[in-house]
Amino acid sequence: MTSNEQTPETSSPLVDIRNLHKSFGDNHVLRGIDFSVAPGEVVCVIGPSGSGKSTLLRCINMLEEPQEGDVVVRGEDLTDPDCDIDAARRHIGMVFQQFNLFPHQSALSNCTLAQRTVLGRPAAEATRVARMNLERVGLADKEDALPAQLSGGQQQRVAIARALSMAPLLMLFDEPTSALDPELVGEVLTVMRGLADEGMTMIVVTHEMAFAREVADRVVFMDGGVIVEEGTPAEVIGDPQEERTQEFLRRVL
Ligand code: ADP
Ligand code: MG
Repeated sequence: MTSNEQTPETSSPLVDIRNLHKSFGDNHVLRGIDFSVAPGEVVCVIGPSGSGKSTLLRCINMLEEPQEGDVVVRGEDLTDPDCDIDAARRHIGMVFQQFNLFPHQSALSNCTLAQRTVLGRPAAEATRVARMNLERVGLADKEDALPAQLSGGQQQRVAIARALSMAPLLMLFDEPTSALDPELVGEVLTVMRGLADEGMTMIVVTHEMAFAREVADRVVFMDGGVIVEEGTPAEVIGDPQEERTQEFLRRVL
């Protein structure tokens, strides 16, 4: 099934955010975000530094707790005090700009650890799943390597394999290629494009406009803690309506 076969009209959203507000002290970072993502949809979030993109992603798995609003994932409101956040988070994979691998663990161990500790999978099953996902990101031959023995692009692919090993329903990517040397960006984007093609629901904060144009079903432009404009890549990147979007794109394209 391709992502285009499911739309918000025909299936209930996987992520549904309503009136989200987040402040750090006096800094009102998210100022009323309404945002939903359908199953299988790939949404790219773009916008200037400091606009609240990372904070929005981090609110989706409650790495940041919002002051106001609802974050509903799979019909469950994560802001509800009765919600089991740890259980809800198991369905959400996250990939960070800085990889965040365990430095003293091999690629394989990085991919088995949470399966065992969080999901309680037996060692043999965790290893089988980890190997399958290392192969999926093109690193079957690197399972014994430590992160320091891998390039940045390889480390980021291990981080993706680690997240996939938890069988997430949703993948969050926060500028996954921003820390990479330019020649290593492509291999990570290729893996992400493959995931999108397989129908994974993805929210990707990125400055890679070519990737957003090609892979996103929808592009969201954020500035100053609000969603200024959203639509298809052709609409938002190709023909932006808002002055702030036009100005941002003039600077990055
Ligand atoms: P973006 O990802 O779009 O660059 P962020 O969400 O990282 O933006 O940051 C938005 C604003 O929130 C910035 O002003 C940043 O300094 C502030 N901020 C983000 N995280 C924290 C934090 N943990 N504590 C205090 N301020 C934060
Ligand atoms: Mg950020």
